[in-house]
Amino acid sequence: MENRAHIPEKARADSPSQPAHHGRAERGTRPKFYLTTPIYYVNARPHLGHTYTTVVADTIARYKRMRGYDVVLLTGTDEHGQKVERAAKVARVTPQAYVDRISGEYRRLWNELGLQIDRFVRTTDDAHEHAVRRLLEQARDNGYVYKGHYEGQYCVFDEMYVDEPLPGNLCPECHRPTELVREENYYFKLSVFQERLIELYEKHPDFIQPEARRNEVMAFVRGGLRDLSVSRTSVKWGIPWPGDDRHVFYVWYDALASYMTGIGYGDDELQWEHYWPADLHLIGKEILRFHAVYWPAFLLAAGEPLPKKIFAHGWWLFQEEKMSKSRGNMQHPQPAARVLGIDALRYFLLRDMVFGQDGNYTRDTLLTRYNSDLANGLGNLASRTLTMIEKYFGGEIPERSSEIDNPLKSACAAESQIVLDAYESYSFSAALQHIWQIISLVDNYLTNEKPWKLAEVPEERKHLASVLYNAAEALRFVVVLAHPVIPQSTQTIWRQLGLPGAIESQRLDALAWGGLTSGTKIGEFAPVFPRVDHKEAFERMEAMEQEMNQAAKAGSAAAEQKPPSATQASVPSAQGSGAVTAPPQTGATSTASAPGAGTSGAGTTPTGATQAAPASPVKIGIDDFTKVEMRVGVVQSAEKVAGADKLLKVMVDIGTEVRQVVAGIAEAYKPEDLVGRRVVVVANLNPRKLRGVESNGMILAASGGAEGKPVLCTFAEDVPAGTRLK
Ligand SMILES: [Zn+2]
Repeated sequence: MENRAHIPEKARADSPSQPAHHGRAERGTRPKFYLTTPIYYVNARPHLGHTYTTVVADTIARYKRMRGYDVVLLTGTDEHGQKVERAAKVARVTPQAYVDRISGEYRRLWNELGLQIDRFVRTTDDAHEHAVRRLLEQARDNGYVYKGHYEGQYCVFDEMYVDEPLPGNLCPECHRPTELVREENYYFKLSVFQERLIELYEKHPDFIQPEARRNEVMAFVRGGLRDLSVSRTSVKWGIPWPGDDRHVFYVWYDALASYMTGIGYGDDELQWEHYWPADLHLIGKEILRFHAVYWPAFLLAAGEPLPKKIFAHGWWLFQEEKMSKSRGNMQHPQPAARVLGIDALRYFLLRDMVFGQDGNYTRDTLLTRYNSDLANGLGNLASRTLTMIEKYFGGEIPERSSEIDNPLKSACAAESQIVLDAYESYSFSAALQHIWQIISLVDNYLTNEKPWKLAEVPEERKHLASVLYNAAEALRFVVVLAHPVIPQSTQTIWRQLGLPGAIESQRLDALAWGGLTSGTKIGEFAPVFPRVDHKEAFERMEAMEQEMNQAAKAGSAAAEQKPPSATQASVPSAQGSGAVTAPPQTGATSTASAPGAGTSGAGTTPTGATQAAPASPVKIGIDDFTKVEMRVGVVQSAEKVAGADKLLKVMVDIGTEVRQVVAGIAEAYKPEDLVGRRVVVVANLNPRKLRGVESNGMILAASGGAEGKPVLCTFAEDVPAGTRLK
C-alpha cells in the first residue's frame, strides 16, 4: 500500500528572509507556525521541568508572532494508563476525578506564569478519543495493524513490555522487577518502517535536533525495529479499541495523537489542513524515541504528513542531579516567579541553559543573574536614560541629530541581525547575550559622553539631545528584541518610553533606527527590576519551596489515603508526590526524614546517619506521623554491597513480603550476625537506588553509637514480622 509521506521540507516559512511586509497581511496568507510541548503525564504535578519546556514554547511562539506568523501553541495533559488508574485507586477517587485535579493544576500554573497557550488538549476529551480511533482506523485500513499475543516481561512502572530484561528480570529503564504477562494485543507493524525512517532522517537532517540526538535515533533504527503492541487488555482506564472494547489503546499511541486533536483532526478539516503538519515538537530527551521513531511511523501508516522538526532539549539538574520524583529533588517554578517576577524566571531559564544541553538550576545563580543582568543591566539602563530625559528635557524624547557621530545605530543593526539568527535556531542563550551586548554598549556610550556634564554647557544642548535620543532608541531595540523572553517588563519599558500600543505587535524584522519620535512625552516610570537582597530573597524562595512541598503533601494526605500494605512499594511512585519524601528540614523530627536529605544521592545511608544541619524544631501532627508505616521485620539474609564500605543489602521479612533494603550499617554489623534479628522497617518509602542496588524501605538505627557507628533499633520481646508500630 502506497503511503504518500509528506516529507518535511527545508521549510520556506522558517526562513528569516521571508518578506516582512508583502502587502497581503490578512490572516489566510500569513505563514503558519504550529508548535507543541509534550502532553504532560498527570502522574506528576507540574514542576520546573514541565515549566521549562512550556516557557521555551511560549518564547518561540511570541518570537514567531513578531515575525509575522500565524502561530498556534498546543500543550495538554496525558490522562490515561495504568499508573493513573493505580494512583486514583490509592487516592480513593475515580480516575476522572484524579485527572481533573492534576490537569487543573497544570492549567492554573500556566495561567499564573502568563503563558499564552492556544490549545490545551486533555486526552480524556471526547474529541480526542474520536481522533485517536480515526488515526488507528486509517492505519488499519492500510494494513499496518494486526492481532497477536504478547508473552514476556512487563514493567508496570514504565508501562512497557521489556524485551530484554536485565539479570533477575529487572527493567532496563527503571531497574524495578518486571512481571511475566501473556496477553492478546493489537500490533502495529513498526518493523516495515525501518527503511522509510532512515530515509527520512538522511534526507532531512533537521528532522531531529540536536545532532547528537539524531545520531542516537539513527543507531537505534538501524539496529532493527520490532512490531509494537498498541493495545492493552490489562488496563481499563484508556480509550476503547474500535470494534473490540476488551482492549484499550496503549498510552503512547493515545498521547501522541493529541498533537493532531488540538487543531481539528477528524473534526475541523479546514483548520487541520491549515496547521498540520506541526512545525516543531519540543520534547525532553527522555521521550525522544517515541517522537522520532514511533510517531512518524504511526503517521506514515495512516498516510498523514509528518511533522517538520523534533527538538529534544536537555534536563535541568538540581545539585548536579536530574530532578525526579523518586529522588525527591523536584523544584517548583512558583518561588522564583513570585519573589523575583515571571520575567526573571523566564530570563534565567533561557539564559542559563544552552538549549539542547543540560543545565544546573540553583537559586544562587538565579539571584546573581537577576541582580547583575536585570537589575543592574536592563533595569538600570532604563531608569538612568529615562531619568535624564525627564530632568534635561522635561520628559520629552529629545531631537536626534544626524550631524553628531552615533556609534549605536550601526551596532544595533548588527546585533539585531545576530539576535534574530540566534532565535531562529533556538539559541536563546546566545540571543540574550547579544541583546545584553547592546545594553553594555549603551552603558559605555553614556559613560563616555557624560550627558550630566554636557548638561552644564549650553552650547552642548544639541549634543546632549542626540546622546539621550540615541540611548533611548537603543533601549527601544533592546526591549523589542527581548520581548519574546521577558514579555511583561519589556511592555512596561515600552510604555515608559512613551510608545503606544502593545509591543508584541512590533515586527522584529522591521526594526530600524529612528522609531522614537522626538517630542513624544515619556510615560511614568518606576524600576522594572528592583535590586534584591541576595540572602533575603534566597531564604524567601527556599521557604516557599518548602511550603509548597508541605501543602502538596497535606493535599495528598487528605485526598490519598494509603491502601493496605501489600501494594505500598509501587504506590509512592504513582502518586503526585511521595507522601514521606520530605525535604531535609521539614521532616527532621521524624524518622522518615533521613531519605529527604538523600537529594545528594548515593552517599546517603538509609540509617539516617547523615547529620543534616540542625533542623528547626518543626512540630508535626499525628496525621503526619501516621503517614510513616513502620513494621517489625525479621532479617532473612544480608550481604555487602560491592564497592560500598558502609552498605549492606538486607532481605527482610515484613509479614506480607520479603523486602530488599539497603542499610548503612556495614561498619557496625557483620552480615551473618543479622540473620534472624528483629528490626524496624519503614515500609512505605519511595524505592530508590544506592550504589545501583534498589532499596525498598529503611531499617531504623540510632546514629550515635560507639565511634559514631549506627545501632540497630530492635525488640527485647518476641513480636511477629509485619506488626505495625504506633
Ligand atoms: Zn521500568
